[in-house]
Amino acid sequence: METYQVDQNGYYGEFGGAYIPEILHQCVENLRKNYLKVMESDSFKAEFIQLLKDYVGRPSPLYFAKRLSERYGCKIYLKREDLNHTGAHKINNTIGQILIARRMGKKRIIAETGAGQHGVATATVCALMNMECVVYMGKTDVERQHANVQKMEMLGATVVPVTSGNMTLKDATNEAIRDWCCHPSDTYYIIGSTVGPHPYPDMVARLQSVISAEIKKQLLEQEGRDYPDYLMACVGGGSNAAGTIYHFLDDERVKIVLAEAGGLGIFSGKSAATIQLGKKGIIHGARTLVMQNEDGQIEEPYSVSAGLDYPGIGPMHANLSETHRAKVIAVNDDEALDAAFDLTRLEGIIPALESAHALGALPKMNFQPTDVVVLTVSGRGDKDMPTYIHYKMNKK
Ligand SMILES: *Cc1c(COP(=O)(O)O)cnc(C)c1O
Repeated sequence: METYQVDQNGYYGEFGGAYIPEILHQCVENLRKNYLKVMESDSFKAEFIQLLKDYVGRPSPLYFAKRLSERYGCKIYLKREDLNHTGAHKINNTIGQILIARRMGKKRIIAETGAGQHGVATATVCALMNMECVVYMGKTDVERQHANVQKMEMLGATVVPVTSGNMTLKDATNEAIRDWCCHPSDTYYIIGSTVGPHPYPDMVARLQSVISAEIKKQLLEQEGRDYPDYLMACVGGGSNAAGTIYHFLDDERVKIVLAEAGGLGIFSGKSAATIQLGKKGIIHGARTLVMQNEDGQIEEPYSVSAGLDYPGIGPMHANLSETHRAKVIAVNDDEALDAAFDLTRLEGIIPALESAHALGALPKMNFQPTDVVVLTVSGRGDKDMPTYIHYKMNKK
């Protein structure tokens, strides 16, 4: 049978692999040899499941959105990752990785962050586990996302402002990799999405796959069948989407719709629609689709949503697009913003701007009345209130 899961060599079709400097070979190889063994051990499973339940608050509800369903003429369920501790799906991954790091005898945790959401999720689990935490963040982002910097510091993390390049996410990632190269034996690098060298994309997808395991169970209870007709999610690096689709990847009854950030429009020069604009290349250790210029230099992406402006995309998603297993839709800033206000007024849920991109794909779909749609609300909108207020004021 054809599978869209990772193969033995760490590839999804022609995407993935581990393109890393020699000095990290041992580290990544060690993780590759051990991650499945650790994740399948009884002690890991017990601790992970317990923390997801009592600390994160799982299972997250699968909420039937009645008024939203009426608007689009189908049955729409929302997977409520916004209700997790720290306000998004990212905590599922950081809890899992810190448990793996501890079982591998690591003493020190490093992470990269763009908007600061992954940094906060990492600092949170480091406080929980009493481990040293260093978070690399572009200086531009440190200034833009000050509230998250304050949260990380309150949680006990050291935030290192990165002043190379454009001083944003890709520069922070480069700096984290540099740190890892200097401390390969005692340091564990918690990557925040389904990106980076193998085994990270597969490991993060597995940790987030709790989302689709729950969807299966909850749909069976609420709909009498354990699969939907459509799964919809936004993609930055791809982790909430990977978690949403994981157990349905090879089930062709289920259509997959991924929403990427169109920014001001995909041909405006200010966009983060990596799947549609990207060309094959290597970024942060994986072969995937990359926004790059003629010389192969990475182009700075743009989106109103800080969590979606990564110039690469997870190799799983590059392959899903290449093989047409998933439909990829670009949702522009204003479409996402309008969708955020729609959800708020129809259902009383203020979504994260990232999640609003998945909602912004709804008007571009053509549903049948019997269609069952599951859309993942990856996070809550508290952090985006200044953007929402600014948009409303300028629209009037
Ligand atoms: C970080 C973030 C995303 C994007 O990351 P993925 O790895 O693509 O899921 C989406 N939604 C929220 C709320 C986020 O914080």
